[in-house]
Amino acid sequence: MSQNVFEMAQRHFHRYAEPLDLPRRYPHMDILSHLTTPDRSIAFRITLQRDDGSLTVCRGYRVQFNDDRGPYKGGLRFHPMVDLAETTALAFWMYLKTAVVDIPFGGAKGGVSIDYASLSLAEKERLTKRFTLILANDIGPEKDIPAPDVNTGEREMAWILDEWRMMTGRYRRGVVTGKPVTMGGSQGRREATGRGVFYTIVEAARDMKLPLAGATAAVQGFGNVGSVSARLLHEAGTRVVAVSNEFGAVTNPGGLDVPGLIAHVAAGNPLTEFPGSEPMGRDDLLTTEADILVPAALENAITAANAPQVKARLVAEAANGPITPDAVDIIADKGTRVIPDILCNAGGVTVSYFEWVQNRQELYWPIDEVNLRLRDVMVGAYRRVAEVAARDKCTLREAAYHIAIERVAEAAARRGVQ
Ligand code: GLU
Repeated sequence: MSQNVFEMAQRHFHRYAEPLDLPRRYPHMDILSHLTTPDRSIAFRITLQRDDGSLTVCRGYRVQFNDDRGPYKGGLRFHPMVDLAETTALAFWMYLKTAVVDIPFGGAKGGVSIDYASLSLAEKERLTKRFTLILANDIGPEKDIPAPDVNTGEREMAWILDEWRMMTGRYRRGVVTGKPVTMGGSQGRREATGRGVFYTIVEAARDMKLPLAGATAAVQGFGNVGSVSARLLHEAGTRVVAVSNEFGAVTNPGGLDVPGLIAHVAAGNPLTEFPGSEPMGRDDLLTTEADILVPAALENAITAANAPQVKARLVAEAANGPITPDAVDIIADKGTRVIPDILCNAGGVTVSYFEWVQNRQELYWPIDEVNLRLRDVMVGAYRRVAEVAARDKCTLREAAYHIAIERVAEAAARRGVQ
């Protein structure tokens, strides 16, 4: 990740904040600096003991960006591209995301710069627990609540809960969300981000008078988010014509058998060897012929270089930051509708919030209740954003930023000046 990803995110923020006239409305608060400066950035060394007894040193991070609206909240990413700038940008987007869907959290993000996939299971557990040990006093159910992100999931959350309770002597399940259901996780959390993406696509498609049954879609990334979004689109009658993961891409203009593809990949087979599909260039997926494009991988998928070739009428930003700032205008100028990341992928943190609520009550909801409430939150947030966009004649991204910034600025002002 480039060094200036956070600076880019800040530049974008200033552009969206400009019409809100915050310095005049909140005088003497240095409000723009307040909203663009992380509260606290923790950067540390993690020494991992390898299975052969040797040691590997890597960098770990937790950036607690803003807690004006509630405790810090955000995922953990274990990936070689992780650095402080990326973690800071992701934490920044996190507090805007929780504000767009109006759940009572701030924003944070953490990670370790390591090729996590290459570690043995025992090494993965040691690394995750070491990370937790170092941050034991900085996280907690009322302070900062980690969750899954790229390369982390239920397994890692269970390890974190275990290490944290050993360290602190307190069995407080709400210290992390995205846990296994057997340890107090919420029903539906695993699917929540992809399901939320789908709910926002349903709303946007309706506004565009684009019937999902019979439409076509391309999905970049086939992890937890991409595969669930693809499956729900498939179930809605959309032809998913192309799918990619980090190793390659496959296409079938007649529509891929998505449940079959999920089973094929889950069985450990290469995506590109899926029967009934043709391999295609990984980057070609982004510019392929499809009504809906779902970038569900990492940042910077659509740049100024490939944006002019994007053919989709609707782009659903399932990943965080998949369109670079210089590509945003290129895409908007084509008349393509974009569901911005801070709205589109907020379903994950929304069900994280439900999990935290359930943990506080030790009373657990059935799956239908979780999904209904998720739908309410996502549809409500989408409708509010679409309303503001129509009123102010701006893009959904600008409207989402306006709503989020207003909510956080108001909370910051009400806290007082100390
Ligand atoms: N990592 C996810 C995100 O980027 C989920 C965060 C959470 O559940 O706290 O939104």
